[in-house]
Amino acid sequence: MTATRLQKSIGINEADIKIVNKNSYHYETTWLHEASAGTLHHNRVLYDIAGVIDRNKVEFVQGTVERIVPEENRVLLGDGELSYDYLVVALGSEAETFGIKGMKEHAFSIVNVNAARKIREHIESQFSAYNKEEVKNEERLTIVVGGAGFTGIEFIGELANRIPELCDEYQIPREKVKIICVEAAPTILPGFDPELVKYAISRLEKKGVTFMIGTAVKEATPEGIIVGKDEEQLFEIKARTVVWAAGVRGNSVIDKSGFEALRGRVKVSPDLRAPGYDNVFVIGDAALIINKDTNRPYPPTAQIAMQQGIVCAHNLLALIRGEKEELKAFEPDIKGTVCSLGEDDAIGVVYGKKIKGTIASIMKKVIDNRALFMIGGLSLVLKKGKFKFV
Ligand SMILES: Cc1cc2nc3c(=O)[nH]c(=O)nc-3n(C[C@H](O)[C@H](O)[C@H](O)COP(=O)(O)OP(=O)(O)OC[C@H]3O[C@@H](n4cnc5c(N)ncnc54)[C@H](O)[C@@H]3O)c2cc1C
Repeated sequence: MTATRLQKSIGINEADIKIVNKNSYHYETTWLHEASAGTLHHNRVLYDIAGVIDRNKVEFVQGTVERIVPEENRVLLGDGELSYDYLVVALGSEAETFGIKGMKEHAFSIVNVNAARKIREHIESQFSAYNKEEVKNEERLTIVVGGAGFTGIEFIGELANRIPELCDEYQIPREKVKIICVEAAPTILPGFDPELVKYAISRLEKKGVTFMIGTAVKEATPEGIIVGKDEEQLFEIKARTVVWAAGVRGNSVIDKSGFEALRGRVKVSPDLRAPGYDNVFVIGDAALIINKDTNRPYPPTAQIAMQQGIVCAHNLLALIRGEKEELKAFEPDIKGTVCSLGEDDAIGVVYGKKIKGTIASIMKKVIDNRALFMIGGLSLVLKKGKFKFV
């Protein structure tokens, strides 16, 4: 967002702009739950970075950022390094396992395209193996999702639609498959409107999802997970697929680079710069900003990340042009939130109005297409957009 905004306003020789990414593509992170469940092919989720930048103004460098040395204005890549006058850190997030034993080793996380692809392939391979084996192992058909926040619920919604297709393909009775969602909080989607939460639970339960609310995940093992409402009453759920969707932290590059951070997120100044470094902007999931009304951090969302990208481009341009007084303070403009419950269903609050069902699902696709449009214009929407509205 920063690069595509910057290229619209900056002159051809006004600055040398480089955008660095470890892949030649970027992806719609907000669609990864679909690729993970297999309801959307992973190629539909990603697009070439070279295709959205103006190569007269921005150079694409494919490389993995290993560490930033902000005192020396250097970015160390897997092979080589870059130096900078101004830096924008927009490296996104990683799964937060809160130190839960075995989670890193035995659970999947929906964090990037490759991770999403692995989840889809793993679930399919379990169905295929079940179909072929003489002595049936029911654990292959149990999928546990840890966390009933946004990511967990959106993934479960897709999964609930995908399972009947897999059952058909591998001749498995639907009732053999278990989708279990374990959530430590007393409700799913904490903070969401209770009436909409009730709707989501009833819709997903009808599709065969079991919710274990107020139940904490204590450990992940090669056989499944250990859960419990309290320490005395722990029990094991045997499952070959465990997907951990209970939280994210900022990219580990942040901590490795010595930035002052909380769970890998840099508490940025109002104009989005890192404390102590006037030439480093941090935006998106790697940045932490406080909601003044609640005195708590805003959750990391694409909505905020994209708005920050725009303000960051403006502020960079002001600095490059020596117009320090023109720097803008970032103020999130939360237009609403829509959580999908599968391709055909959703819940949300948009401009203060509650929506659910088909209307909400259409709105979700409009939001998805808008995100593409803001980065790559109409051509990207036509290539990757979602047009099946009902
Ligand atoms: C399944 C799911 C559903 C979501 N749904 C919503 C939603 O409905 N609404 C909403 O507002 N938010 C949603 N979010 C959150 C949203 O996706 C993120 O807040 C947003 O994508 C953050 O943007 P970002 O630019 O910080 O990071 P990202 O979009 O993750 O981009 C980070 C980029 O950095 C690259 N990168 C990472 N590490 C390196 C490295 N070391 N070197 C080089 N490149 C690197 C990555 O390849 C990637 O291209 C969802 C998230 C998930 C996982």
